[in-house]
Amino acid sequence: MDQKQSCLFCKIINKEVPAKIVYEDERALAFHDINPQAPLHILVIPKAHYSALHDVPADKYAVITDLFNAVNNVVRENKCVENSYRLVVNSGPAAGQAVYHIHVHILSGRALKWPPG
Ligand code: 5GP
Ligand code: ZN
Repeated sequence: MDQKQSCLFCKIINKEVPAKIVYEDERALAFHDINPQAPLHILVIPKAHYSALHDVPADKYAVITDLFNAVNNVVRENKCVENSYRLVVNSGPAAGQAVYHIHVHILSGRALKWPPG
């Protein structure tokens, strides 16, 4: 089984695993995190499978602009601009990455401390 076939977030994209989807376009998907760390905790993912930002080759960088277009739409549609928000991309085990399919966490709805833990 290759990485993509076993990937949880690819399964959510393919609707093989249910999720509370809040946004979808041709190239990105957003859904509520199953274990929210803030009153609003949404994950935004590209439909293309890459383990991490640093795995995206330069000629595929549209994946990242398309992803951030979706992030922008989601924050605008969920009152994040009014309430403040934080974007987080955990990359690698020491940073807490658990799912190896690029995802942007959107956290909002409470005061967020700095520096993060
Ligand atoms: P990471 O730790 O890789 O940055 O973030 C992975 C996130 O995926 C975690 O916040 C975790 O709660 C979330 N997550 C893990 N499994 C599922 C799932 O099956 N459904 C949803 N909606 N979120 C999940
Ligand atoms: Zn994947």
